[in-house]
Amino acid sequence: MDTDSPLTGLLIDGAWTRPAGRGTFAVEDPATLEVVAEVCDARPEDGVAALDAAVASAQRWRETTPRDRADLLRAVYDEVVGRTDEFAALITAECGKPLDEARGEVAYGADFVRWFAEEAVRLPGLARPAPAGGTQLVHSRPVGPALLVTPWNFPLAMATRKIAPALAAGCTVVVKPASPTPLTTALFADVVLRHLTERGLPTGVLNVVPTSSASDLSAAVMGDRRLRKLSFTGSTAVGQQLLRTAADGVLRTSMELGGNAPFLVLDDADLDAAVSGALVAKMRNAGQTCVAANRFYVQAGVADEFTDRLTAAFAALEVGDGRHGAQVGPLIDARAVDHMHEVVAAGRAGGARVMTGGDAPRDGAGHFFSPTVLAGVAPDADLLGTEIFGPVAPVVTFGSDDEGLALANATDEGLVAYAWTRDLDRATRLTQQLDAGMIGLNRGLVSDATAPFGGTKMSGLGREGGHAGLAEYLETVYVAC
Ligand code: NAD
Repeated sequence: MDTDSPLTGLLIDGAWTRPAGRGTFAVEDPATLEVVAEVCDARPEDGVAALDAAVASAQRWRETTPRDRADLLRAVYDEVVGRTDEFAALITAECGKPLDEARGEVAYGADFVRWFAEEAVRLPGLARPAPAGGTQLVHSRPVGPALLVTPWNFPLAMATRKIAPALAAGCTVVVKPASPTPLTTALFADVVLRHLTERGLPTGVLNVVPTSSASDLSAAVMGDRRLRKLSFTGSTAVGQQLLRTAADGVLRTSMELGGNAPFLVLDDADLDAAVSGALVAKMRNAGQTCVAANRFYVQAGVADEFTDRLTAAFAALEVGDGRHGAQVGPLIDARAVDHMHEVVAAGRAGGARVMTGGDAPRDGAGHFFSPTVLAGVAPDADLLGTEIFGPVAPVVTFGSDDEGLALANATDEGLVAYAWTRDLDRATRLTQQLDAGMIGLNRGLVSDATAPFGGTKMSGLGREGGHAGLAEYLETVYVAC
């Protein structure tokens, strides 16, 4: 994207703008370290101006028909899919994931727009005779202006997963994209803006304010009592801070936070399928996904064989610039690479063996790290307690099913768990007792726009996608008559 593209500005009240006196921040390509664009740096007052626009257009927007909102979203879906290559190239440039994966993200991200176009015309409601006489009417109303804060690892899908249900429900929004990856969100917002304009719909419904001062801008917007909803996806630590701030205004919140997914391989598992599933669950976006398998627990009878096969599969992956066929792209920044070195050092210090990888693959530009398998990790190793968020797979051996289950659940997070077994009784028990909002049973991929995505425990509150995704933006109003 050209640095002088209007899309490097702020989108406030239907216009791309550069308020006087704002600085810029650089968006860097993590594979080449080249600057992709300089983006206008919103200040807190820009966040409030964006909220002004969201508030000003709220009444008109909620009075549009569900069918009009559905048709708008369907047209946006068609356009995004039609421009897949353009979106994918931008995702790869600012986030680093290989081009094929970026195309996958476009399909996944667009799917939220299609799904919520379909859901917009199915708002829940009820009319029934009240048991004690009279009538009860139960309506759904848009909850009100919403602040949507997104992470950098899925710059399109994390935005559409919030924007599409919010607009479908009749909410107007202020979007604060992650500062490493604001451009994809801007391109998406521009598509929505054009379709709003062409249909004569209010254009202030979707506002976008990239900033390098996330906490100041969020504080200003969340301190304004006209805001009624916060939807956040990101780390648990930042989510906790925002929940505290949200308490002041008793905001409705949807919190999609960090994961620490167990990947449990029982001794009757199909190991070919489990290794293929492990590649998907661990290595998408070079391990930088909230649903990344973080802890591999493998039953003693198959531990060596699984580890050897996983090692061979990791060693065969090509690491490099995702525009040129590599299967594993860069990490988002130098800090992330340092973190991988720390995880590997901690594993070694605890007696783990580095089966493959363990280091950056080459000198020069790019924040790369080799796919790494750590075998013989102790079940109580500290490195299992936090999100690795990179291409390092620690493998722990366990004995009984009970022990595996207990290890899998021994974490504060509960976003997703993966389990591999061919035995129906064991599978049933695992799906009943794994403490996570999502379970991949003999599958390494659970994300689906049509299904409820979200976690238990410290992985968050609420669900995105599926029917539940729309409900996050609806208020229930009951009329007694
Ligand atoms: P992050 O928490 O650092 O940032 C997320 C967003 O919050 C960004 O827009 C950032 O600018 C903003 N932010 C950061 N500090 C803030 C503050 N003090 N006040 C207000 N806003 C602030 O997370 P990240 O590094 O962008 O993303 C990685 C994290 O996101 C991982 O923990 C990952 O598991 C999680 N994640 C969760 C899901 C999910 O659905 N549960 C999906 C993707 C990513």
